Amino acid sequence: LPLEYQRAIPVLQKLEHAGYEAYFVGGSVRDILLHQEIHDVDIATSAFPQEIKTLFPRTIDVGIEHGTVLVLEEEEQYEITTFRTESTYQDFRRPDKVEFVRSLEEDLKRRDFTINAFALKEDGKIIDLFDGLDDLHNHVLRAVGNPHERFHEDALRMMRGLRFVSQLGFELEPETLEAIKENHALLEKISVERVNIEFVKMLLGKNRQAGLRAFVETECYIYCPGLSGKGEALLRMADLPEIPLKTESQAWALLLNQLDLSGSAVRPFLKEWKCSNQMIKEVQALVQGLDLRQEGPLLPTALYQLGETAAVQVEELMVYFEKMPELAKVRQAYQELPIKSLRELAIDGKILLATMDRKPGQWVSEALQSAEEAVINQVVKNEREALLTYVKEQLSN
Ligand code: ATP
Ligand code: MG
Repeated sequence: LPLEYQRAIPVLQKLEHAGYEAYFVGGSVRDILLHQEIHDVDIATSAFPQEIKTLFPRTIDVGIEHGTVLVLEEEEQYEITTFRTESTYQDFRRPDKVEFVRSLEEDLKRRDFTINAFALKEDGKIIDLFDGLDDLHNHVLRAVGNPHERFHEDALRMMRGLRFVSQLGFELEPETLEAIKENHALLEKISVERVNIEFVKMLLGKNRQAGLRAFVETECYIYCPGLSGKGEALLRMADLPEIPLKTESQAWALLLNQLDLSGSAVRPFLKEWKCSNQMIKEVQALVQGLDLRQEGPLLPTALYQLGETAAVQVEELMVYFEKMPELAKVRQAYQELPIKSLRELAIDGKILLATMDRKPGQWVSEALQSAEEAVINQVVKNEREALLTYVKEQLSN
């Protein structure tokens, strides 16, 4: 067992000594079996939330109505979730009611894919009720139980399936694939926020090409914001070199580039996807930078406006356009900028007002802007006297 799991063993044992069942469950069990890095240690137990809380001194109610209690032990935190079933499904969305149960089997049955439905004991024993180990070996994504029913219960599972295609390079088992093709329209009922999370994970996956192709083949894309009618563009994107994208903003930027959306079209598209304003700002910069970069190396003004991080991210994206990214060059060009922000300019508004013998007005910010521009392009040195002379000249023209 990996270290993260070994550290959590006392947590399982505490539950067991109190007479409950407890297991490691969820995506990280799958990731251990695949020898991949694990993110979070999830624990499932027959203890009910109140029972969990009496056993552990430090807990936080993170989702107690869903049966999840966050337990703080040593320096770590663990999500402990009571075994549950999700019986009442309305509108093809997540259930509005969950029922706590004492049976592990019931809990594993409600999970989406066989490879996500393992339970693991602290002695390393795997509980595999749905032949997930075979599927794991064969690189197959198979819905637990009847795929039609499972996608009707929660249509997001279809998007989850597609993102696992991209993350794991597995293939959808034929009946599961067929069920996604037949039920793709149910995605319309799912909140954009939930679809967004899976879509981004799909774009960031190592097997993006297969993920995107399955996304188009199953026609799930039609029900995603701004993508209906974009099947061909998405397939073109699937033909780009299979090199993993590093960040979410790069993923959106490359997608927008492939959809031929830039300038004022970026914001409404990402708004529809319910991206945060911060994300929108980052992506707008990358899209703009990418447009400029495709014409040639970024000029000082563009480097200055983008900042080093975004400029490097733009450069990294060049790999998708058959250009070897020259990251060191970009970093050096950025470092060579005489100033990195307006604050570093050797003059400011106060100095201008004190020396120019003019009333305050629009001219101040205009003069600072042209001084900034001149310094960045090495037309004038970033020195007070030189800049004042330059501004005087500009003002008299
Ligand atoms: P990741 O590595 O991205 O966290 P994950 O498989 O752990 O992937 P989570 O969203 O963290 O995904 O969910 C944890 C587990 O809960 C899953 O492995 C699966 O067993 C179950 N699960 C999550 N979402 C669903 C769903 N919509 N329907 C059924 N089971 C789900
Ligand atoms: Mg997880």
